[in-house]
Amino acid sequence: MAGTPSITLNNGLTMPQVGFGVFQIPEAETAAAVSTALEAGYRSIDTAAAYANEAGVGAALKASGVPRDELFITTKLWNSDQGYDQTLRAFDASVARLGLDVLDLYLIHWPTPKRGKYLDTWRALDNLYQQGRIRAIGVSNFLPEHLRAVADLGGTVPAVNQIEVHPQLQQRAAQEANAALGVVTEAWSPLAQAGVLDDPAITSIATAHDRTPAQVVLRWHVQQGRVIIPKSVTPERIRQNLALFDFELTAEEMTAIDALECDGRTGPHPDHFN
Ligand code: NDP
Repeated sequence: MAGTPSITLNNGLTMPQVGFGVFQIPEAETAAAVSTALEAGYRSIDTAAAYANEAGVGAALKASGVPRDELFITTKLWNSDQGYDQTLRAFDASVARLGLDVLDLYLIHWPTPKRGKYLDTWRALDNLYQQGRIRAIGVSNFLPEHLRAVADLGGTVPAVNQIEVHPQLQQRAAQEANAALGVVTEAWSPLAQAGVLDDPAITSIATAHDRTPAQVVLRWHVQQGRVIIPKSVTPERIRQNLALFDFELTAEEMTAIDALECDGRTGPHPDHFN
């Protein structure tokens, strides 16, 4: 973890600011990708039950020999497992696939408001947290109204809200709502699934710093204080996406990237994904 800063969550736990995402990596290729990431120095891995590759992550963790207390492992509860009892069962299945006794961060993957189950689901996460089976609990894709409903339960406040953030979809209102409740914003698809990397505003900044466009976009996130979890199956890119802490974007360059906002959502809208 040397060289990679940590972010302190609202319960005092720290998590690396840069982690490794494994969405859309086939199970058979996941262990190799995660092994490459661990060798490159990543210590935070972001998976989900829905990615169907938790066992591959677990195999790489076990083979790595990295001490457990240096790792920060996140997985997520899938929509069809929402509800109090189903959540408890789904958690057991996820940690078994990962080969872990205690999980670092468990997230509700989507609020799926039409199901009307996310508050009961949150109570189950809180129960697992109180038992010490998870070190921090959080949510993903929660809009401010969903987040406030969870906070209003009066139990544990989510430590993290993992939402889509990149230059073309900055979700400033959602980030402010997170911050107001003491919830860390974690950006998914931080590179817009590579869709922002050939924008001239990005490529010109990259040229000026002798960095790649991906590094410029990831550095923009880092300077704004978010946790990021870029995904790659390409070893050179895996290493490059962690090399973000020996250069700095100017205020003008940050503003130029901010100006790329265009409501460019790559994934579903949380209100309509059920
Ligand atoms: P990213 O924004 O991380 O982009 C990944 C894409 O960018 C891949 O095509 C990858 O190619 C390419 N890429 C990565 N690094 C570079 C580089 N240095 N130069 C050029 N191209 C690069 O997209 P994801 O959607 O994967 O998001 C990241 C993570 O966020 C996921 O893996 C997952 O963990 C999480 N996530 C969470 C969601 C949620 O609902 N909570 C939804 C979506 C994602 P290649 O692999 O071929 O190298």
